[in-house]
Amino acid sequence: MSQLVLKHPDLKHEDLKFNTVEVHAGEPRDMYGALIPPIYQTSTFYFDSTDDAVKACDDYAESFAYSRITNPSVDYLEQKLAALEHGKGAVAYASGMGAVSGAIFALLKSGDHAIFTKAKYSGTEDVTSDWLPRFGIAHDTFDAANLSQLEGLIKPNTKLIYVESPANPTMVLVDIAAVVEIAHKHGVKVFIDNTFATPYNTTPLDLGVDAVIHSLTKYIGGHGDLLGGAVISNDEQFLRECRLGTLMHFGSVMAPFTAFLVCRGLKTLGVRMKQYNESALKIAKWLEANPKIEMVRYPFLESNPQYAIAKKQMKGGGGMISFDVAGGLEAGKKFINSLKLCTLAVSLGDTETLVEQAAAMTHTMIPKEIREAAGITDGMIRMSVGLEDPDDIIADLKQALGD
Ligand SMILES: *Cc1c(COP(=O)(O)O)cnc(C)c1O
Repeated sequence: MSQLVLKHPDLKHEDLKFNTVEVHAGEPRDMYGALIPPIYQTSTFYFDSTDDAVKACDDYAESFAYSRITNPSVDYLEQKLAALEHGKGAVAYASGMGAVSGAIFALLKSGDHAIFTKAKYSGTEDVTSDWLPRFGIAHDTFDAANLSQLEGLIKPNTKLIYVESPANPTMVLVDIAAVVEIAHKHGVKVFIDNTFATPYNTTPLDLGVDAVIHSLTKYIGGHGDLLGGAVISNDEQFLRECRLGTLMHFGSVMAPFTAFLVCRGLKTLGVRMKQYNESALKIAKWLEANPKIEMVRYPFLESNPQYAIAKKQMKGGGGMISFDVAGGLEAGKKFINSLKLCTLAVSLGDTETLVEQAAAMTHTMIPKEIREAAGITDGMIRMSVGLEDPDDIIADLKQALGD
């Protein structure tokens, strides 16, 4: 809402590097000089006169009047996210799904058509398959690795192309600039779920994307102790539709304390991502060399058919790997049950290494034929590499494979 704040008026966030921006951007000066901004644990804000109140209530998005719409602790987080993603503004939601559905329903209305990548987060899959039809919104899907299908799917009423890169859980990448070129030629907007890459590895707004969506629950919060989401964009009118529409009226509102926790995690995003990029590449290479592993999907493996796209738009491959243990579902289960250090859990982007079997856990609600069309095999294991020493993680994988 407010202009991006830095402690000294001479500093401009455009001149500063990622790790400096994540620490300093959006930090308001408070009356006591607190280094860490206080938590504005308040539902409402008082006014000195009815004139002031009328002014504030005239534009809820640009003032502090009620915390369902704006709150200083949440505003501070939104400024940091906008600065890191190179956007003009951001709107935080109570969860990643709050942000996914908040962005989709802020743009689309009955009679519109949208196009989604086949592989995507399971909650987003449910929104497209169950909720879009209820509102009379039609959609199609395309294989992100094969853009030749995309242009043919665009109709006169197509308003949105929605992508995830790398996709959950298949790790398929989208050539972001190429999708933007096709979409914008037809006046279609592009949204991307940038949860896996994070702004440390990719800033999609620089590639022309219209809105970036995050589950802050994952890498940005980074510690597995909160739920949050955000939409970031350069289109201020669209951000107002999000704030005064889906946030204010559907009420998926982030609490001030959660915003404080996200900011606390966000300040180390750069150092954490650097380590995730290094550890995951090392582990992916080890997996690839192991004969008991059938297929490894990691953006920065040279064997990845999309390696050139990864190099073009990502600074590092990130912390997510997916792979198949030879022997399918049962072999995968046996492998997971034998792990001692790596923990069996859904979610990702935490300090602990987490593993899960997508077909049996996160993506089990999705019918098998849709799963298979999206490249989710029964034996696929999704691994969120943690901040443990990668050699200890490799030792655990080794013993679980019986090597
Ligand atoms: C987890 C996740 C979401 C949903 O986020 P929540 O915070 O769990 O609501 C959306 N997209 C991706 C890629 C995710 O991994």
